[in-house]
Amino acid sequence: MEKDIFSLLNNRRKPLFTETVRRIVLWDIIIFFLLFLTSNIFTIAITNKILTNNLDDRLTNEVETLLPSFQIQQDTIKFVGYSEIKEPDFTTINSGAFFLQVYDINNRLLLNSDNIRAFGSIPFNKPDISEGYKFENITSGEHKLRVVYTPMFDKHNHVAAFLQLSVLRTAYSSVMTKIVYFNLLNLPFILLLIIFVSIFLAKKSYEPLNKIISIAENISAANLNARIQYTAHPQDELGRLRDTLNNLFTRLETQINQISQFTDNASHQLMTPLTAIKTELEYILKRERTTGEYKDTLVMLNAQTDKMISIIKSLLIIAKYSSGSEAGKNVFKVSQVIEDFIKPVFRNQNINYEIADNLYLRGSSEGFQIIIENLIDNAVKYSRDNPTVAVNAQSFNNNIVINVEDNGPGISNEEKEKIFERFYRTASSIKENIPGYGLGLCLVKTIVQSMEGSIKVEDNSPAGTKFIISFPAVRVI
Ligand code: ADP
Repeated sequence: MEKDIFSLLNNRRKPLFTETVRRIVLWDIIIFFLLFLTSNIFTIAITNKILTNNLDDRLTNEVETLLPSFQIQQDTIKFVGYSEIKEPDFTTINSGAFFLQVYDINNRLLLNSDNIRAFGSIPFNKPDISEGYKFENITSGEHKLRVVYTPMFDKHNHVAAFLQLSVLRTAYSSVMTKIVYFNLLNLPFILLLIIFVSIFLAKKSYEPLNKIISIAENISAANLNARIQYTAHPQDELGRLRDTLNNLFTRLETQINQISQFTDNASHQLMTPLTAIKTELEYILKRERTTGEYKDTLVMLNAQTDKMISIIKSLLIIAKYSSGSEAGKNVFKVSQVIEDFIKPVFRNQNINYEIADNLYLRGSSEGFQIIIENLIDNAVKYSRDNPTVAVNAQSFNNNIVINVEDNGPGISNEEKEKIFERFYRTASSIKENIPGYGLGLCLVKTIVQSMEGSIKVEDNSPAGTKFIISFPAVRVI
């Protein structure tokens, strides 16, 4: 059933355009529009500037050729270059024609070129200049004109008149209109091109991602040892994605293996007492038994049930302390817990305590009791011939260090690594039939870690085992 759902999900048809591709295309279009708009404004502004400069250059050149045709006689200005303004430039009306008007300072017309009469009037706006040129754009009827004004002087060097020279802006306007039309006509094609190109680019850039996704989709719980094989630099986004997913798969694989190992071990450990109970029950039920025999069976059943309860209790405690940090909760005094709860449990054993007085720890004091009880219990249990155990606790470099030492058989270096694993028991303890389920040290390590501490095991000298636990010290004022 589960497999069906997975294969259904994997075989789901991929949409032609995913949400991400659509979003990228939309952004591309918005950005393109903004670029198109600004580049058009920019082109129009630049073209406008260039064309206007050209017109202004033509006008000033012509004014400079015209000015010598004016002569100052007494107080008046005389025009002597009639041949100049009889040329076609001043008589016809086309895009190359010049329109000349000269007005005195009282706005009286002194002179105009022939083409003005045919063209109609050109407005004269008396300029507020006393030298140089003044340019402006004016409209006459439906015609647009570029105009230059320049003052003319009498012999006292006073402004006596203004020369106005105009040209039509026909060519100029048509260039501008062409630019705008050209852009507007091309817009739909460019837009289509942008849409296709951005779809293509978006799909192309997501191709490796899709490849990684489809490889990842094919990695299921059944083949968790498979890894994504994709060539990319580890610093590259896709390389990082590949490594992150592969690391995740590794962690999942380890955890799933641990879980299945744990289920195996737990079932095995629980199966032993259950099988013993079942065998005993089958045996006793075969025929009528004496009261004594029934009693023996009940005692045996009781012992096996105790075993199961002990295993399940340990597993429950491990689960409880694995689920979250116990640090940050209560603060308790180490010597007091030892005095009140540990010493009474081991009062018949030869245990030497050396506990500094003012040591405080943060966490569950109940958890701390389980730690110390288990370590002392093991020390006593495994050094059967010589159960002398030393427990000492002192403060060292902002840490509280607690040692539990014995003079027992010790633990080989290869097994030191494994004794904290769930259900692990050393070969010698199995061989010697020392009771236990291999859960005690796993429990101890889990609680130590939940209190933000650490635990290690060393050889004791001259012989035996030394467990060293270290916790961050708590300052109590
Ligand atoms: P259990 O004692 O129930 O077997 P533990 O998790 O407490 O499980 O210990 C794991 C293994 O570590 C034990 O089987 C034992 O072989 C070894 N061990 C633990 N403490 C000692 C010790 N003090 N001396 C020698 N071996 C020890």
